[in-house]
Amino acid sequence: MRTLITGGNVISMDPGIGDLDRGDLLLENDVIVDVAEHIDAPDAVVIDASDRVVMPGFVDTHRHTWQTAFRGVGVDWTFTEYLAAVHGTLKPHYQPEDVYLGNLLGRLEALHSGVTTMLDWFHCGRTPEHVDAAVQGLRDAPGRSILCYGAGWGTTASVDDEVRRVRSELTGNGPVTMALGLRGPELTDMDTVAAELTLAGDLGLRTSVHIETGGRNRPIADLHEHRLLSSTTTFVHANGVGDDELHMLADAGSSVSISPDVELKMGIGWPMTGRVLAAGLRPSLSTDDAPSAGGDMFASMRSAHVAQRGLDGTLNARDVLEFATIDGAAACGLVDRTGSLTPGKDADVILLSADDPTVFPFNNPAGTIVAAGHPGLVDTVLVAGRVVKHGGRLLDIELPTLRNRLVESRDRIAAAAGIPLDGTWHPSSDSH
Ligand SMILES: [Zn+2]
Repeated sequence: MRTLITGGNVISMDPGIGDLDRGDLLLENDVIVDVAEHIDAPDAVVIDASDRVVMPGFVDTHRHTWQTAFRGVGVDWTFTEYLAAVHGTLKPHYQPEDVYLGNLLGRLEALHSGVTTMLDWFHCGRTPEHVDAAVQGLRDAPGRSILCYGAGWGTTASVDDEVRRVRSELTGNGPVTMALGLRGPELTDMDTVAAELTLAGDLGLRTSVHIETGGRNRPIADLHEHRLLSSTTTFVHANGVGDDELHMLADAGSSVSISPDVELKMGIGWPMTGRVLAAGLRPSLSTDDAPSAGGDMFASMRSAHVAQRGLDGTLNARDVLEFATIDGAAACGLVDRTGSLTPGKDADVILLSADDPTVFPFNNPAGTIVAAGHPGLVDTVLVAGRVVKHGGRLLDIELPTLRNRLVESRDRIAAAAGIPLDGTWHPSSDSH
């Protein structure tokens, strides 16, 4: 089957193709086969992209999707309050069904806002059934997802058997793949970090790790001294680490995931965007968590841009758009498959409404997307050539039923935990 997306304003994110004021995109089954100003394909199914921007889908490199039911309750929390509330108070009441619904609705939310690839940083695996429910939630949403399994969270126990079990169920190049979420130098010791990295290597898994204590413990230098920096690890946040540590990451070929909204509002630190770039790394972007922040990449892009412009006036919108697409794909080990509109890559494509009053006239497309873009612009989403959203609506998804189930899940957990949902809940740090 061939599909022709025709007459759009194409932002390819491929330097060899560039931007086309008016361009066509030809897909064959799940793959992009041509991008050009005019393509003749009389046999193809046509998607009219007049008044649309055509660009690669966004890549979110770090989202705790299981927390979706508690959207907004923590917008005024500090990081310490977040830990006490979500991990200390809510998580013990999560059942597998709650994980399933959080992951499914969270993944659908991401898809709805144009995130075709999403890394689910999952640390609610209280039992194997919870982990299986997380996988099923991702599988039931038609996006490209990576279950980044934070195994043994809150413990120092060996995770080998459980990680091998999940790995045996997530093989191949299907829509849901696996990574390993390390407990890392802040939550465990170097022997455990080394053991987890060895396990990940044995199983062919990329890894991701949070660095949240600022620079005071020099966690990256510590990993460097133990020869534990790898090209397949993504470092989340990393606020406040030294410039020398960022150069260590660049030398190792590691990647970085910046969550600008959460880092700023929880007081984790200023986003490291400019310093990461200065060290020779290309950052990726992430939304992190729904209790504190919105789940769309437009907000992450705008906050990253605004914060760095505020610090030193250096960052360009075009770079930010790269962080949210091609650089995110690289951080997920998927740059050969997604992140740009390049022939041979999977057809992960979004169409944004350029005639919407909030962005019209659509001058300087990359700049307008970063400065004024929002999920309401996402008209059409294709994942590996399959249309999953069109005319502003997710296809083949029973949202009303799922919404009801998520509300029931939320109410049950909130009642068991004894917490209000109206933003007045400020847990003290010693309840963690
Ligand atoms: Zn996180």
